[in-house]
Amino acid sequence: MGSVPNVYSMLKEQLAGTGAEVITPDSEKYAGSIKRWSEHCIKQAQAVVLVSSADDISKTLIFVREHSVPFVVRGGGHSTSGASSIEDGLVIDLSKLRQVTVDTDKKTIKAGGGTIWEDVDVEAAKYGLATVGGTVNHTGVGGLTLGGGYGYLSGKYGLTIDNLVSVDIVLASGEQVVASETSHPDLFWAVRGAGQNFGVVTAFTFQGYDQKEPVFAGTLVFLPDKIPQIVSFVNKFHEVNDGNQAMLWGFSAPPPMKAPVVLAQCFYNGTEEQGKEFFSDLINIGPIVNPLASVPYEKLNAMLNPASGFDGRKQFGGGAFKLPLKPDYVQALHAEFTSFVDSHEKMNESLMLFETVPYKKVVEVPNEKMAFSNRGDYYNVATCFKWFDASLDQEVREFSRNLLKKASQTAGVEQDEKIRSEQGVGQYGNYANVDVPVAEIFGKNSKKLEELKHKYDPDNLFSRGLRLVPRPLVIVN
Ligand SMILES: Cc1cc2nc3c(=O)[nH]c(=O)nc-3n(C[C@H](O)[C@H](O)[C@H](O)COP(=O)(O)OP(=O)(O)OC[C@H]3O[C@@H](n4cnc5c(N)ncnc54)[C@H](O)[C@@H]3O)c2cc1C
Repeated sequence: MGSVPNVYSMLKEQLAGTGAEVITPDSEKYAGSIKRWSEHCIKQAQAVVLVSSADDISKTLIFVREHSVPFVVRGGGHSTSGASSIEDGLVIDLSKLRQVTVDTDKKTIKAGGGTIWEDVDVEAAKYGLATVGGTVNHTGVGGLTLGGGYGYLSGKYGLTIDNLVSVDIVLASGEQVVASETSHPDLFWAVRGAGQNFGVVTAFTFQGYDQKEPVFAGTLVFLPDKIPQIVSFVNKFHEVNDGNQAMLWGFSAPPPMKAPVVLAQCFYNGTEEQGKEFFSDLINIGPIVNPLASVPYEKLNAMLNPASGFDGRKQFGGGAFKLPLKPDYVQALHAEFTSFVDSHEKMNESLMLFETVPYKKVVEVPNEKMAFSNRGDYYNVATCFKWFDASLDQEVREFSRNLLKKASQTAGVEQDEKIRSEQGVGQYGNYANVDVPVAEIFGKNSKKLEELKHKYDPDNLFSRGLRLVPRPLVIVN
């Protein structure tokens, strides 16, 4: 990287005495400040500004506009699309905005724009509350919420955005507003699914729910020859769940064995006895590891942390599948996934996950209700590849895309025109790369979104992330 442009000394001067810190490559803190969950998203930013308030953000946005400085916003730093890192500009880093407060009368939880889910889960639990948060608790509240948000509690309460009461947001103009159903409702519509393109959220207010009792959860590990019986259980799960359960299952070859296995992360919001009863047919298949146990809710989203470490290059990809599944379809995908992983060095921690999170509650909300457009009679399937050799980046991306396409088509989602046109798009935006066309993520909502983008960010200041462009409203007489 060349020398740091002088413009950042000016930014430092403008933010002096505010609590904000401008970090440049000569600083000891620099290496830590550009770190991301995936190593391939670590980019040599010209500077990183650690903001400490909405006012710092307003000043910074006015500054970047005046000086034409390209920038990105970093929440928890977990996107694998590179949307929160930049080579030729500035990172607006929200990690100082980690405060969480709980209103016990309204049972709402207000979380700073840079919080991670652990902050929310732990603080809310002090008051016996919980909301729909991510299943790995070091993931950022910011990106996950603005893109939609699925969690173990989605079966009962819907998506994270379905439980979003309001956001405090700084717009491209530097103006600070609150968006909710009653204040800037059109902005609130856009924020819930496409928020990254509309401003910097400094606080999210979520509806919380009573969650005083522990939950029953853990990851069962099976040998791959059990796939037919597991599929049979999943097909039954679809019929018998009442929204209080979830099952994330799929393929990997994790340490210490590094041999292919089928993992099944099970969740039951109830007692150990109820959970054991619900999952008894799965347990009876004979897992080689069975750690299922009762855990406090605030520990639930930490269970998958060991399998989601910060080393290596990673890439998420998403598709959709319908139940019931056929065992040979799953076996074929398993064979293809395993053969690719086995033929590359140190790729064994890669994962293909069928996210069987009940969607009945999610589809109660129509796709037109907010920007998010992935509601339909199907479940998400995701890949998360992990590798170390940068020369494999393109190969992994292509393999992942083709595998997910095959998975979605074989499971009848992409082929089902009714689903694509009347229901959801069949792809979760938070798993997609930035080069995926806007229409594939927002479907019929794309046009309205582009018009709102023109209203709130006409100069396309927030231009990284998904490629949403401002389009003026055309009135036809
Ligand atoms: C290990 C792991 C587990 C996951 N589990 C789940 C899960 O259970 N459920 C689920 O739905 N998704 C899950 N995801 C996907 C996750 O939703 C996305 O990776 C999301 O982008 C992460 O948000 P972040 O703030 O950490 O990322 P970042 O990379 O910091 O941000 C992602 C995008 O959001 C923007 N952004 C972040 N915060 C703000 C803010 N406050 N204001 C404005 N823009 C902001 C950034 O500019 C960027 O465009 C998981 C991802 C990982 C890596």
